[in-house]
Amino acid sequence: MKKALLLRFEADAGVMKLPLFEYACPTTISEAVALLASHDGEAKPLAGGQSLVPMLAFRVASPALLVDLRKLLELRQIKIADNGVTLGAMVRWRDILDDTRLRTAHPLLVAAVEHIGHYQIRNCGTVGGSVAHADPAAEMPGIVVTCEATIAVSGKAGERVIKSSDFFRGPLTTALTPDEIITEIRLPPWPAKRRFGFQEFARRHGDFAMAGAALFYDEDGQDRACNAHVGVIGVSDRPLRLVAVEQVLNGNKIDLALIAKAEATASAAVNPPNDIHAGGAYRKALVGVMVERALKSATTQRN
Ligand SMILES: Cc1cc2nc3c(=O)[nH]c(=O)nc-3n(C[C@H](O)[C@H](O)[C@H](O)COP(=O)(O)OP(=O)(O)OC[C@H]3O[C@@H](n4cnc5c(N)ncnc54)[C@H](O)[C@@H]3O)c2cc1C
Repeated sequence: MKKALLLRFEADAGVMKLPLFEYACPTTISEAVALLASHDGEAKPLAGGQSLVPMLAFRVASPALLVDLRKLLELRQIKIADNGVTLGAMVRWRDILDDTRLRTAHPLLVAAVEHIGHYQIRNCGTVGGSVAHADPAAEMPGIVVTCEATIAVSGKAGERVIKSSDFFRGPLTTALTPDEIITEIRLPPWPAKRRFGFQEFARRHGDFAMAGAALFYDEDGQDRACNAHVGVIGVSDRPLRLVAVEQVLNGNKIDLALIAKAEATASAAVNPPNDIHAGGAYRKALVGVMVERALKSATTQRN
């Protein structure tokens, strides 16, 4: 509470950019949930602060209370087991890149995280913060949707597990209720020899993608693709699975002709709006190229 008073004082003196807020730093998940629930939708969790703090500075968000999750040590674990990879919500991008086990346990995740932000962002930003923030161009929500991950959350009504297909509702909008925190992101098992590719286009490395593609497929023993999963980011109000492209791939050998068909199908499947970074038509073409490049890298890349 001392810190909250200090923040108030500086804001009142006109020194601070952020709006007034109370600050709490609980040490248990149940305490964090109780704090969120006690503020009638006016409290927000604080993870790495890489999106929330700029939003406060721009007055896009002005919660009455920030509930800092940094002392919830159980949310910092990376677990690798037969049932897949489980990332605690407070696992940072840096933790993923430093954990050499993940290069075989989930190489697509690692390939995507390598594109996120800059050194400082990767040292602070967390998987839970990114998934809760739900930026349609962010890599982690794209991986969650492509891999059919599940999102475990805790709230005043208890715990629940949300399917990725139900979680993202639109730009910065999710199925979370205001008293809920994400505790874990659970990625299904990644078999050996799975082929995968991740590609994105951004003007500068570390910027959010103008369009990107994450994909994987297995092979049926006769070099034909099966179980294809294709996800794209930056071309809609949320990350998308492109089932039409998966249908093009499944049951077929991935050669240049099929890749060209997949590219055209990907472009046809999306309808991105114009925005300040690019026109919709440009993004539509770009996402096809991202799928094409990701497929080409998948033909040479597997764990
Ligand atoms: C210059 C810059 C470049 C960036 N580039 C990229 C990029 O290329 N790709 C990319 O994906 N991201 C990028 N980011 C964002 C960064 O990856 C952050 O990690 C991410 O936006 C949010 O994570 P965070 O831990 O910082 O969350 P915070 O900013 O602390 O929180 C974000 C939101 O999630 C909520 N929240 C946080 N944790 C939880 C939880 N456990 N449960 C429920 N709600 C929660 C908060 O209340 C808030 O609404 C960039 C950021 C900056 C500043």
